[in-house]
Amino acid sequence: MDNIELNQYPNDTKGKIVIVDDQPLNIKILHQIFSEEYELFMATNGEQAIAICQKVLPDLVLLDIEMPGMSGFDVCQHLKADPETAGIGIIFVTGHFDEVQEVKGFQLGAVDFIHKPINPIITAARVKNQFTLKRQSDLLHSIALLDSLTGVANRRHLDQRLPELWKQCCRSKLPLSIVMLDVDFFKRFNDRYGHQEGDHCLRLVAQTINSVLRRPMDYIARYGGEEFICILPETPLSGALQMAQRIVDAVRALHIEHLDSCFKEITISAGIASVQPTSDVTWFSLIETADQQLYHAKENGRNQVFGLEVS
Ligand SMILES: [Mg+2]
Repeated sequence: MDNIELNQYPNDTKGKIVIVDDQPLNIKILHQIFSEEYELFMATNGEQAIAICQKVLPDLVLLDIEMPGMSGFDVCQHLKADPETAGIGIIFVTGHFDEVQEVKGFQLGAVDFIHKPINPIITAARVKNQFTLKRQSDLLHSIALLDSLTGVANRRHLDQRLPELWKQCCRSKLPLSIVMLDVDFFKRFNDRYGHQEGDHCLRLVAQTINSVLRRPMDYIARYGGEEFICILPETPLSGALQMAQRIVDAVRALHIEHLDSCFKEITISAGIASVQPTSDVTWFSLIETADQQLYHAKENGRNQVFGLEVS
C-alpha cells in the first residue's frame, strides 16, 4: 500500500481553489467564503489564471465569464485542451443568467454555474458538492488500481506507471531495473493447502517484498496469479541483484510450510533486467528480458536470482 499513489486528500491537506475575477470586490467576497476551508489562489485576468492553474494544479476554478481580454470561456477552453489541466473542475461565475451562455459553458466542460450577486450559502454548497464528487471519483480510481488480495498495485496501475517511470528514467539518464518474481511450486501449494491458505501466502509474500523495498521510489505490483514485479529506479544490475537476493531470503525466512516443494517451505525466484536508458531499449523488451531471466532462475533450481544487463 505504501508505494501506490492514492490520489486522495489526506486530512491535513486542504483542497485548492483558484478564484478568477476582474473585479477585486468579487474576489474578496469569494475569498471570505472559502479562505478557512480551502487553499486559495487569485487571478484577475485569463492569462494569470492559466499560469496559476498550470503551476498549482488546483481541484477547482471559480471562473468569471466576463473579463476584458481573455474571457472565462477562453480560459476554460485553454485549460481543457491541455492534458495536464484538463481534469481541473471549472465552475463559471456569471453576472446574469443566460441559457445560451450556460449551455455553452457546460459544453466547454464546466461542472457548474454560480450567479452574481454571490450568495455565500449557495456558493459554498455548490463548491462543497464538487469536492465531494471529486473525492469519491479519486477514491474509486485508486481502488480500481489496487490488487484487492494483496493490497499492492495491480496490473492496471503498472500499465499506467511503467511508461511514466521509464520516461523519468530516460530524462535522468540513470539506470533502471525490473525484477520479476514468482512463488515456486505455488500451484502445488494451492492443491495441498487450499485456496484460502494460498491467498494468505500471497498476502505474506507481497508484504515481505514490500518491506524489503525501502526507498519511496521503488515500486511493486502484482503482475498475475503468483507473480509480482518490482521496478527499481536509479538502480544498476548490481544493486538489483542484491535487492532481489534480499527478497528471496526474506520469503524463505517466513518458513511457510510447503511439503510439496523440494525446499519444504515457500520460496520465490527472481529474474532481473537492468538498463541504462541511454540505450535503444523499450520498457516492453525489459519485461521480456526479466521474464527470461526468471525462467532461467526456475530452470536452474528455483529459490534464486538471475539477472541481465540489457544494452
Ligand atoms: Mg467580470
